[in-house]
Amino acid sequence: MQTPPRVRFAPSPTGPLHIGGVRTALYNYLFARKMGGQMLLRIEDTDQNRFVPGAEQYIIDALSWVGIQIDEGQTANGPVGADAPYRQSERKAIYQKEALRLVEEGKAYYAFDTAEELDAMRARLEAANAPAAQYNSITRMQMKNGLTLPEAEVRARIEGGEPYVIRLKTPRKEEVRLNDLVRGWVNVHSSAIDDKVLLKSDGLPTYHLANVVDDHLMRITHVIRGEEWLPSAPLHVLLYRYLGWEDTMPQFAHLPLLLKPEGNGKLSKRDADLGGFPVFPLEWTDPFTGTVARGFREDGYLPEALVNFLSLLGWNPGTEQELFTMDELIEAFDLEKIHKAGARFDIEKAKWFNHQYIRQHANADLAPAVQKQAQDAGFECPAEKAEKIVALLKERVTFASELFTEAKTIFYAPTEFDETVRAAKWNDEARRAVVAFRDRLVQFEKPFEADAIKHLLSDTLAQAGIKQGKVMQAMRLALTGLGTGPDLMLTMEIVGKAGVIERLETAMTTLQ
Ligand code: GLU
Repeated sequence: MQTPPRVRFAPSPTGPLHIGGVRTALYNYLFARKMGGQMLLRIEDTDQNRFVPGAEQYIIDALSWVGIQIDEGQTANGPVGADAPYRQSERKAIYQKEALRLVEEGKAYYAFDTAEELDAMRARLEAANAPAAQYNSITRMQMKNGLTLPEAEVRARIEGGEPYVIRLKTPRKEEVRLNDLVRGWVNVHSSAIDDKVLLKSDGLPTYHLANVVDDHLMRITHVIRGEEWLPSAPLHVLLYRYLGWEDTMPQFAHLPLLLKPEGNGKLSKRDADLGGFPVFPLEWTDPFTGTVARGFREDGYLPEALVNFLSLLGWNPGTEQELFTMDELIEAFDLEKIHKAGARFDIEKAKWFNHQYIRQHANADLAPAVQKQAQDAGFECPAEKAEKIVALLKERVTFASELFTEAKTIFYAPTEFDETVRAAKWNDEARRAVVAFRDRLVQFEKPFEADAIKHLLSDTLAQAGIKQGKVMQAMRLALTGLGTGPDLMLTMEIVGKAGVIERLETAMTTLQ
């Protein structure tokens, strides 16, 4: 039997987690759950210059909001699991050890070049029209490093505290191949890979070294990440080879890009700003500038809707089914069904999903949003009333915040009446119907509920010899000022008997 997979989500805490990162985390999670494996959260914070306070907490909060559960790694309660620590900044010694081992084995080397010297090299190469100005198997021999300096000098420089980096000694002629689970075979010639820095002068590793070392030590079986990392994958394969870990190298699956709503080019924050939608799961306040970026949560998206929407951006179950709970996604998910082509970030589709989930949501869960808005507007709105409003209106809205807007006709008696409807429908018969209904209501003693109201109204109209179909729109006009709207009997129930009578009386005097 195959061992269950171990996957990881490995974000860098350089700001709020982008929605593409949420999709990556989601696919990792679905795969891990489907296969009975584990999902790790590793914080890749080795770039001290890009460290942003609060970003790690944001990542943890965002994953928890969308319902992605971490089995091991950095969690809200600190590190969990046998491979701790899970913050790369706390694993410095581990990477140093591996980098030094590579140097000893002749697979990496110390380099002492200053920034000026590196610039000068680039300028020289550019002047000579070199195809790619980089530090590689050819240029390295003109630079100041462990391959060109005498060993004693290298020692002396290091012991003297001179800053150095450790670079990968990329082979001159070697085929590097990997079979990506999404992209298929990727072949790169090592001459296209430069002598990447593995350990920086601050003693911290670069992303490449830390990522490979940790994936190995944490026994990761599948690296599922965004397509932007595909160009780094051959280098990673080379590193596994050099570190002697190629046998247990994880499999790679690079997920397709998220594209602009129009479909051409990568989705950016700017597209989102222009389109008036978020690209971050939660609202984020930049700790340096105080700038606030909107979040799907604060914009009123339900996490289930966001998850469902993201799940289909790059993966397809191969059936017509569109609505999936998390459990259904886990059941249906298949790495082989991830597609290569970029996925258009169609925010209208996200809204459609939200509408679907709002419709299915328990009334009691959505009621507090209505209560809050009603109270802010100065109305008393007990839970029971709010729940009735939700039941009446949830089919009609995309976001919970629209429930109160849709409920305006319940909270506010009409002060104006739709002119077109009035001209077409308000006549003597309509007035008679309204007066008769009002008279019956005044004497009505039973609980004021939609069914009872319906009976009362039809009975009233039958007695008055008025056809219901002819006056219903006028009745609605009298009660709400509008010609269309949600179920009128339920609307009356929520408005309450006194309110209904008052509205009918106002209509009787206002509508001539
Ligand atoms: N730290 C990288 C990132 O921020 C991780 C890439 C990977 O998954 O290997 O996306």
